[in-house]
Amino acid sequence: MGPVELDVRNLKVSFSTPQGNISAVNGISFQLHRGETLALVGESGCGKTVTALSILRLLPEPAAKITNGEIIFSGKNLLSLNPKEMRKIRGEEISMIFQDPMTSLNPVLTLGDQLVETLLQHKSLNKKEALSKSAQLLGRVELSSPEEKLKQYPHQLSGGMRQRVMIAMALACEPKILIADEPTTALDVLIQAQILDLLESLKKEFGMSILLITHDLGVVTEIAERIMVMYAGDEVETGPTKSILKNPNHPYTKGLISSRPQIEMTGNKVQRLSEIPGSVPNLNQRPPGCSFHPRCKWVFDPCKTQKPVSKQLDQNFKFSCHLDPGTI
Ligand code: SF4
Repeated sequence: MGPVELDVRNLKVSFSTPQGNISAVNGISFQLHRGETLALVGESGCGKTVTALSILRLLPEPAAKITNGEIIFSGKNLLSLNPKEMRKIRGEEISMIFQDPMTSLNPVLTLGDQLVETLLQHKSLNKKEALSKSAQLLGRVELSSPEEKLKQYPHQLSGGMRQRVMIAMALACEPKILIADEPTTALDVLIQAQILDLLESLKKEFGMSILLITHDLGVVTEIAERIMVMYAGDEVETGPTKSILKNPNHPYTKGLISSRPQIEMTGNKVQRLSEIPGSVPNLNQRPPGCSFHPRCKWVFDPCKTQKPVSKQLDQNFKFSCHLDPGTI
């Protein structure tokens, strides 16, 4: 693995609600290395997006608050930067793309206007140079007739094309880190594969790191070298993707893997998918002990009262469960 690009240490985030303060992220720690893709995986409500928004300091304050931790990037703790310093990091050094590009693109401006504005904000270019660079960027994300596209509005493009435009905007300043929050969820399967291929080739070309947020383990196998599985704001298992998919140690990870659609048929038999019973708990009604215990088929007495601590198996693997490694 390359040098550490981003180091998240014991991050805790809470939200103030009419029912009191609820903890959305409970002290997670992870490192993103240069040139790697790390996937944060889990069902909706597990704290993945809150983690990503914390890195960019885009949480809806004051309702959301980072109550503990450090986020170290280029030797600085992002949590101690002032708003001006943070604006410089966003876009120039760390960019983010979202599931629905329509929420990020301005519907009343042409793509050219939006790309040029981004470039003029962060780069010392004149308008003509910014326009030419914008066309280059659209070409790089494999959009045909880029000069023509610059004159179009977001609604004139398909969902897949809009996501390519968002990727072009995110790459405008050649960031060191791209955070991709469910970048393919809204797209059909063929376009999903194309966008993942594109991200993979851009990662290599720009030497950047990707923090991929997804609920979809299929996406993970395509491009992530490592995964961190989250459940109810906790980090439950982290390690290299191939090893975790083959030999998970945490029952939640195993449940996610078993519920993954697979194109596998034995003879004429179609295998039924198994599902994890129940759903992610409401964060203001977190079960005591292990938060996963009401859904876990390996649950035993300690799980109901004692929160499991993280076990570091070696430099690459850790998981939080009362079971011994290799039990499930
Ligand atoms: Fe299941 Fe217990 Fe492990 Fe939680 S700690 S995942 S309930 S076995």
